[in-house]
Amino acid sequence: MPGGPRVGLRRLPEYEVWKSMRQRCLNVRNRDYPDYGGRGISVSAEWSDFLVFYQDMGPRPDGYLLDRRNNDEGYSKANCRWVTALESVKNRRPITHCKRKGHALTPENTKLHANGFRQCLTCWRAYHRDWMRQKHGHVPKVTK
Ligand SMILES: [Zn+2]
Repeated sequence: MPGGPRVGLRRLPEYEVWKSMRQRCLNVRNRDYPDYGGRGISVSAEWSDFLVFYQDMGPRPDGYLLDRRNNDEGYSKANCRWVTALESVKNRRPITHCKRKGHALTPENTKLHANGFRQCLTCWRAYHRDWMRQKHGHVPKVTK
């Protein structure tokens, strides 16, 4: 299907899941890329087509997340399933330091998002400061 799925398909919640999966793995400018594409997590060739992804995975049960059975392997039909946010957190490999700046990920410095995603609180705050600056029309200070 050249040019991507038909417009109606883009409204499916699974389409957002598919899109952000590909962003994390393939877009070096995505902020989650270091934890995915940056450490060799890929998307199977079949799943470059949203329809194949959707047929393989089926509809996402409400509140479930896409999870990889083996965290060191890529996204594919064999390695993926829908799980609750809690199951997904349990299955994550323990991360002790944040990838961007190496802050220690103590419980006090961990932001647990509603979708189960854990993030360095220091970096999350910095990201949001930049985002607010952008939103309010100031030029954000870009630090590496
Ligand atoms: Zn950090």
